[in-house]
Amino acid sequence: ALYQIKDIPKPRYVRVNTLKLDVESAIQELSKRNEVHRDDLVPELLVLPPGSDLHDHPLVTNGSLLLQGKASSMVALALAPNPRWMVLDACAAPGNKTVHMAALMRGEGKIIACELNEARAKRLENTIKLSGANNIEIHQGDFLSLDPSDRQYSKVRAILLDPSCSGSGTVSDRLDHLLPSFAEGGNGSSFADIQRLNKLSAFQKKALSHALSFPEVERVVYSTCSINQAENEDVVASVLPLAASNGFHLETALPRWPRRGLPVIEGYEHLVRTDPVEDKEGFFIALFVRKPSTATHLA
Ligand code: SAM
Repeated sequence: ALYQIKDIPKPRYVRVNTLKLDVESAIQELSKRNEVHRDDLVPELLVLPPGSDLHDHPLVTNGSLLLQGKASSMVALALAPNPRWMVLDACAAPGNKTVHMAALMRGEGKIIACELNEARAKRLENTIKLSGANNIEIHQGDFLSLDPSDRQYSKVRAILLDPSCSGSGTVSDRLDHLLPSFAEGGNGSSFADIQRLNKLSAFQKKALSHALSFPEVERVVYSTCSINQAENEDVVASVLPLAASNGFHLETALPRWPRRGLPVIEGYEHLVRTDPVEDKEGFFIALFVRKPSTATHLA
């Protein structure tokens, strides 16, 4: 049967901003009006029935709760930044994952949030203000032109890279994104689609290579909200030689998550995919890790 992603009933996910509110208090408050469950994977994520409207809820407007989906909330969790670290969010706006990292770091350490687009950097600023985090510094500019040997960035230990992507895992109005032919760049796609995909994946490869070149970095997460192999497994495959020569390996991201990468590259079982229908949003997560001794050795 033909159906559209927007027609699939989605539970309402809310992430508790633990910088402002603890999960138990959030459950207590929300359960006055809604049925509330804790998510089984992301500890600070709550699941409400489809259709629960929380846009005007005081806990949302004051920044204690964020309307952030499950797949999106899995990305910072996979990076698991150490609270004492300096961390870089390479493509940060509107900042949902930036402030999630700040919460995971309990407001300690330091986060540099890089965003190219000026208007979107403003949105990032608002998200940060609302979150109450005070360990985040915004850098408005191109991630690709940050110099990894610059003293400002050479101490970065973790990078979250969530670059511009086709969004094919979350678009709600086009069924063709669900067809395998589109995912493969085959018959279902127009020439313009393929051109756009090529442009996006070229940037994604460059950005991921750049992230793997910071001298002290130990953990790098690459994520997209795309279901296209060209933006996901193919991007990872293209950097594997560089990753290996810089001492990185693919680590199993979120080992309890059952849905892994497409079996088209070596190490696919370490990758995470979420399905646009089964999991309500199509995301991709790859985690690169190296030992600190290797990093120090290279520095
Ligand atoms: N991580 C964000 C979140 O969870 O809220 C979403 C990031 S969005 C998928 C990608 C962002 O990267 C966009 O805001 C885009 O403007 C920005 N961007 C694109 N190219 C960039 C570059 N070269 N340097 C820095 N940011 C870039």
